[in-house]
Amino acid sequence: MSIFSKLNEAVTFAHSHPEEVMVWAEDKDQNYDLELFKNNFVGDVSILLTAADVCMGDWELNSSGHIVEKDFSMIDGYWNKFIYAFKAKTFLTLLDEEGHINFSQAPHLDIRGLPVPRKFENAVPALFLDRDGIIIHDTGYVHKKEDVHLYEDVIPLIQFANRKGWKVCCLTNQAGVAYGKFGIEEVDALHQHIDELLRKEGALIDGWYACPYVRSSKSISSFNFDSIRRKPNPGLLLDACDHFSIDVKKSYMIGDKESDVLGMKGPEYLLVRRQYDLASAQAPIFSSLAEIQDYISKK
Ligand SMILES: [Mg+2]
Repeated sequence: MSIFSKLNEAVTFAHSHPEEVMVWAEDKDQNYDLELFKNNFVGDVSILLTAADVCMGDWELNSSGHIVEKDFSMIDGYWNKFIYAFKAKTFLTLLDEEGHINFSQAPHLDIRGLPVPRKFENAVPALFLDRDGIIIHDTGYVHKKEDVHLYEDVIPLIQFANRKGWKVCCLTNQAGVAYGKFGIEEVDALHQHIDELLRKEGALIDGWYACPYVRSSKSISSFNFDSIRRKPNPGLLLDACDHFSIDVKKSYMIGDKESDVLGMKGPEYLLVRRQYDLASAQAPIFSSLAEIQDYISKK
């Protein structure tokens, strides 16, 4: 595998090897947690620290242009969504006259500024909701139906988004799975239950996304990972974007912890003050979901 430390070296290579597969990864300042990647990657790859991270390897692509997952056999099989591979000649079409990667000119880019193989049409805004402390009361590792207590003002908020045709997605860290307190099946069953309660009220959640992984001495081994899905990493949100055509820049992420402000530009982050310290929160803080609904509806 060849690694290019400078973009112009990669460009020179691409010109002379148009059919080679190149791999591009985004750096931390551009929403991608490079350190996490480096610490977890299993395999023969190095990446650069500039926005134009380019390396080249002996990769296989699947029919949609993603790197096949077996090349990324680490953590929860997510990396292929952050790293795109394409033929060198395609890479060259993203470069402007000065040799910079010009994403504004590139067709079919995703929210990470990377080329997307699939069509991305009719995108709608999304309302991304944390679960505990936003949809239901956070009484600590909730996993039993009898412990589910909906926030009253989450119902009109979801209905508001439903009426506007937005997608509503729940993004939740579920460390209790890693700690062996309950299984992922119980998380899924609980989400079905919450779904039913909300539907009875005429409020529809389009997608449920949970991260069971935590790197911790308390975690059982099969869940003891740094996951790109664990908030504040953006993986759960990106999962939703893989399932639905979402206009991220017109979307909102609402949570009650500083970790609900994800390491990703795009959505507007809004926090509700519950029992957590928000002293260094990088987002506006509201006292209720009703107040947030009022704020969003006036925009
Ligand atoms: Mg919460």
